[in-house]
Amino acid sequence: MEEWIEQLQNSVNTLEKLKEYINVTPQEEEGITTLNTQWGTTPYFASLMVRDDPNCPIRKQVVPSVKEKENRYGIPNYLIWKENRATDEIRPDSIARQYFDRIAFTVTDVCANYCRHCFRKELVVDRDLKLRMDVEEGLDWIREHEEIRDVLVTGGDPFILSDERIEYLIRKLREIPHIEMIRFGTRTPIVLPHRITQSLMKVLSKYHRVPLWVNTQCNHPNEITEKTAQAVYDLLSCGVNVGNQAVLLKGINDDVESFRKLHQKLLTVRIRPYYVFYCEPAPGIDHFRTPVEKGAELIRDALRGHTTGLAQPMYVIATNIGKIPLMPDYYLVDKNEKEYTLKNYKGEITTLPNIPD
Ligand code: SF4
Repeated sequence: MEEWIEQLQNSVNTLEKLKEYINVTPQEEEGITTLNTQWGTTPYFASLMVRDDPNCPIRKQVVPSVKEKENRYGIPNYLIWKENRATDEIRPDSIARQYFDRIAFTVTDVCANYCRHCFRKELVVDRDLKLRMDVEEGLDWIREHEEIRDVLVTGGDPFILSDERIEYLIRKLREIPHIEMIRFGTRTPIVLPHRITQSLMKVLSKYHRVPLWVNTQCNHPNEITEKTAQAVYDLLSCGVNVGNQAVLLKGINDDVESFRKLHQKLLTVRIRPYYVFYCEPAPGIDHFRTPVEKGAELIRDALRGHTTGLAQPMYVIATNIGKIPLMPDYYLVDKNEKEYTLKNYKGEITTLPNIPD
């Protein structure tokens, strides 16, 4: 049996199995036994958790917490709101749309790791929301909509599908003349790097003429290992670009040191930091959320000027009207008819001439 399938079959999703990896606290045990939720991770990702540290950044993303029962700020029916599912435009359940020329195509609700902070929690983790993941229906809709040039294949985790299924999806999308690029959102390079097999590489390589992009999600430097490096190298070697979409998570990566180290370490394994997302107001994840400005402050204090330009992601707030970028607000101090006054990351001031239009 292939190793990645073995990993999935041995998912760490019971209290007994979890106890093989960590010393479970009474609070964690309460979360596991009282929440009606999908949870679990791969033995590989579980092995990265710190046995005696309840604040281990990986553990917090994996182990259900009683705090998930609280919901002061989460928007009820979040996905319906966020993905514009209650609008006049009739779309299959598998198609989420916020922009004119690109869509998210949800092809599965299964994941290798059920992230406690997932914004699709209602669908993937708590499963209160039922959507029809009818791939054919979605493909028909994309075929009929010539304005769509970019498809993000998402889930759940689409790389949990078999090689044959992934190949079918890519082939069918490739046949649609107006599709110029295909993106996959998958956490497998981080939580199940064994998934990037020789046979999957063959599937991905064959279609290199329509670029394939993979965006993964890595939230803390401890998630990056030699296995991650190999998986990313393998993806790149078959022509697939790999970016990261981190989520800003309170107590996990919202401090200067972890945030900087995360972005530096991503580059050491050839993953290009792409986005940092504000943790979305889905129900039951208040405890992961920081103030909105926090991400911009971290870009200012941990990254911009402090490390390599390639390590700079864009900080965005994903909303029902699309992503809204937020930048640190210190750069432009003043502007008059003669000049601009600009400030750098150290607080130093310089001026540039204001050249009229
Ligand atoms: S892998 Fe993605 S879709 Fe699955 S639980 Fe994690 S964040 Fe949600």
